[in-house]
Amino acid sequence: MTLYVKKFGGSSVATPEKMKFIAQRVIRDKKENDKIVIVVSAMGDSTDNLLSLAKSAYSVSHGREMDMLLSTGEQVSISLLAMTFKSLGVEAISLTGEQAGISCTGTHGKALIKEINPSRIFQELELGKIVIVAGFQGIMDNGDIATLGRGGSDATAVALAGAMKADICEIFTDVNGVYSADPRWCPKAIKMEEITNIEMLEMARLGAGVMQPRSVEIGLHYHIPIHVRSTFSDEKGTIIQENCTMEGNHYVIKGVAQDTHAVRISVLNVKNVPGVAHKLFQTLANDHIDVDMIVQSVQTSDDSLTDMVFTISDTDLSDARQTLSKLQEDGLIDKVIYDENMAKVSIVGAGMLGTPGIAARMFGALSKAQVNILIVSTSEISVSCLINRDKVEAAVQAIHEEFFEETQLHM
Ligand code: ASP
Ligand code: MG
Repeated sequence: MTLYVKKFGGSSVATPEKMKFIAQRVIRDKKENDKIVIVVSAMGDSTDNLLSLAKSAYSVSHGREMDMLLSTGEQVSISLLAMTFKSLGVEAISLTGEQAGISCTGTHGKALIKEINPSRIFQELELGKIVIVAGFQGIMDNGDIATLGRGGSDATAVALAGAMKADICEIFTDVNGVYSADPRWCPKAIKMEEITNIEMLEMARLGAGVMQPRSVEIGLHYHIPIHVRSTFSDEKGTIIQENCTMEGNHYVIKGVAQDTHAVRISVLNVKNVPGVAHKLFQTLANDHIDVDMIVQSVQTSDDSLTDMVFTISDTDLSDARQTLSKLQEDGLIDKVIYDENMAKVSIVGAGMLGTPGIAARMFGALSKAQVNILIVSTSEISVSCLINRDKVEAAVQAIHEEFFEETQLHM
């Protein structure tokens, strides 16, 4: 008996025809004693459409009602997929996050999974059914529906696999696995056979869209191997796990990632005294705004004032505007400048530890492509540059070319 959790993303369930295709594939691959739990996202662009419906009618930020609205997307797909299995003569049942025993904590729009009680799922599996669970949603202590942040169905799938001690979590998507860069931009991108979850976590955090970062973290925690593969082909994809005997191991860099949702916020002329940064960032944290890169500028002419520059995701922008205007009213900060069209390009690879010159090669590639670097940040296994969003495609291509397309020259 193998217990599978299979997650299908929005593009895999975009139409009734695609749902039928998936159902047929699951039925074809299922061995007699296998137990199958399927997690699905909302159909196609429906989450985006729901979001813009809300935004066109009201200028709301995320909250209880937004979660009530967004969670409906997944309910459409679970019910339709269950009907599809039934029409093919296979017993299936759809469950909402709550029915699947998923409880959440934290804040609306980016709730965290607190606990999963999969007893109902096990009961239904025992009855021989395929269980189809709504991704991206769970239930708060007070009974309200919460969503897990964009791409949150991945977290649902990996967390369910962890809670149920599944043998493997398969993430079915519209690409064949994890590539060295987005293949739509870099046709020569290389598919990784395996990648460590630490590297994958860094890639995902830095914007490699293939998996939601939180889900990779959950996989790391529960030691669940994850297989990222294509919905539309039988080809083996990429295995994400703790240790790899990696085919791609000879690459110092495993991938180039981009985040096209960055917003730069410059808080100008703040008092250069202890406690100001604390107060500013604590207030942002209290309002659940994730801050990414932070730079405090060096001032030479007037040491009593300084600028704080930081980046956030554009999904937090309207909340950040509110928070910062409160601080302006309170007199803690003065002028604030918002630059909305930013992007962050990053390189990731454990191999850069102890290999000098990696950042220099990245900066060289960017300069060759005439891309200006606005902020740089690093971790042990990554280097990131903030740039203008209109240059992001050229930047990714140039960096990919430097590290992957001329490997022979540089090894
Ligand atoms: N439907 C949600 C989204 O578009 C969750 C997901 O697809 O994973 O972000
Ligand atoms: Mg996704």
